[in-house]
Amino acid sequence: MVLVLQILLVLFLIILIVLIAFRIRRPKPLHQLPDNYKELLNDYVTFYRELNESGKEHFEQRIDQFLSAVKITGVNAEAEDLDRIFIAAAAIIPVYTIQDWQYINLHEVLLYPGAFNEEFDQHGADRNIAGMVGTGALQYAMVLTKWQVRQGFINNNDTHKTAIHEFVHLIDKMDGTMDGVPEIILERKYIDQWKQLMYTSMQQIKNGQSDIDRYGSTNTAEFFAVISEYFFMQPGQLQSNHPDVFHMLQRIYRTGKNIQHNTL
Ligand SMILES: [Zn+2]
Repeated sequence: MVLVLQILLVLFLIILIVLIAFRIRRPKPLHQLPDNYKELLNDYVTFYRELNESGKEHFEQRIDQFLSAVKITGVNAEAEDLDRIFIAAAAIIPVYTIQDWQYINLHEVLLYPGAFNEEFDQHGADRNIAGMVGTGALQYAMVLTKWQVRQGFINNNDTHKTAIHEFVHLIDKMDGTMDGVPEIILERKYIDQWKQLMYTSMQQIKNGQSDIDRYGSTNTAEFFAVISEYFFMQPGQLQSNHPDVFHMLQRIYRTGKNIQHNTL
């Protein structure tokens, strides 16, 4: 009798261990993504397309987590599945290799239909802003425009990705100042070197001796956002034209090794 009970207990424990192992191995359900999310990511997000299978699964989990944490609200525009996926992809691409990254300084993304002005007016003639990290009352918000977000992903030749640009500003701002030096992810020993590289590169832009977008010479915060767009869109070209800047960005975004990606 005792032996039977012992056998039953062992069997019960084995079944329990198998069930727990199965639960752990099974990927977590993705609550925030539409049924066709793999198709959308494959069709439009080059970064995702070039990941291997486990990398893709990791990316999917990360964008799902982002969409659970950050509300996306359309303002005179509908935030459709495609917009939500593009915004989440732009948020995750720069921090893909940084485990446990949370945009603690962001609660909501407001999606406008097209460009707006500094008063968030969508109808005036002076509308030239395509994206903005909120300040003051909009401290925990980001404003993006549907047209530019879509353009950045659908038109693959376009090196401008407004959404990535704005998320880079948020990463930069995480240490308290938006100054082009993301101290939260850049090791202290490289800070002076990075500042020097930024000033030299900005001077080259001002002298007309650079292929980096002119907007990058506005100030160091804009330089960091513009050069990060370049880094994520055309890493090969950046590496050959600006090797020192490229290597420093590899340090900042930790893409030098262990990334399940083919092009970075
Ligand atoms: Zn900017």
